Amino acid sequence: MSIAYPARLALARTPTPLHLLKRLSEQEGGPRIWVKRDDLTECIASGNKIRKLEFTLAQALADGADTVITCGGVQSNHCRATAVLGARLGLKVHLILRGEKPELADGNLFLDQLCGAAVSFHPAKLYQQGLGDLFEQWVAHYQAQGCKTFVIPTGASDGIGVWGYIACVEELKNDFAQHGITPKYIVHATGSGGTQAGLSAGVVMHKVSAAIIGMAVCDSEAYFLQKVRADLDDWKKRYGIDLDLDDVPLCCNASYIGEAYAKASRDVFETIHRIAALEGIVLDPVYTGKAFHGMLMELRAGKFEDAEDIVFVHTGGVYGLFAQREQALEVF
Ligand SMILES: *Cc1c(COP(=O)(O)O)cnc(C)c1O
Repeated sequence: MSIAYPARLALARTPTPLHLLKRLSEQEGGPRIWVKRDDLTECIASGNKIRKLEFTLAQALADGADTVITCGGVQSNHCRATAVLGARLGLKVHLILRGEKPELADGNLFLDQLCGAAVSFHPAKLYQQGLGDLFEQWVAHYQAQGCKTFVIPTGASDGIGVWGYIACVEELKNDFAQHGITPKYIVHATGSGGTQAGLSAGVVMHKVSAAIIGMAVCDSEAYFLQKVRADLDDWKKRYGIDLDLDDVPLCCNASYIGEAYAKASRDVFETIHRIAALEGIVLDPVYTGKAFHGMLMELRAGKFEDAEDIVFVHTGGVYGLFAQREQALEVF
């Protein structure tokens, strides 16, 4: 299938490297474990969101917007990436944040404010029940000042953002050819579904034989299957894509969420510490640490026995670790 990508801004440092985790693979004794270093897509704007935002912000500019409004948790990586890239492009950024204003801005929030984003804090309950109203309110607020607003949904996960990881699969295909490998599984953290949607459709479109496994960090398997499908439906409609979604297998593992979103158990912090010390790769407690820990548990349970190679997509998130350094320090 030849793929007609829509307008895209060159914001990320791509292609990112694909590394073999040699010592870890030897210690675990299973398939070789590779990591796609999407924690290296940029510095302050690093992680997976920049890949989606290359397409999302291209659309915002094409629409003539001067102000982008998006949302997330207080430690949202997506909000931080939007704040940085907004500054890079000369766009005003407003972040609708879920939760209380902390006494001291840390991690991602610190960077949001450093990059000049306006932020508003909203109690979790109100945010969950009335996010649509909050967006309306802030859009009206900026429009009253004569701004041209563009709204980006949670995690930039919608029919536009999906392109980011469809394009990443093209990179992975080249990586695999270069290393002479045919990984059976590609594992990643799934939070708002857009990365999973892009990877899942991407392997079908680019004819890569790997199965995509989204490790949920919140919500349920049923939620993700529905959300990913909705993002792909939106993508098909917006761009007139001729792809039968029944031919796009979706797989979500929701067994490693732990207590709650953004709350990691001691095991997860131990894995984060282990991988940092063993391989020099830093995972985060909200997304990649949980997903990587879950992947190792599945590996030990023999789930990847039929594979010679598996790939973990490191979607970033390092700044969120600083906001949880107290919990992390308990395992050193
Ligand atoms: C947002 C995020 C994810 C999840 O990606 P989605 O496309 O929202 O599912 C994974 N890892 C990190 C570090 C993230 O910031």
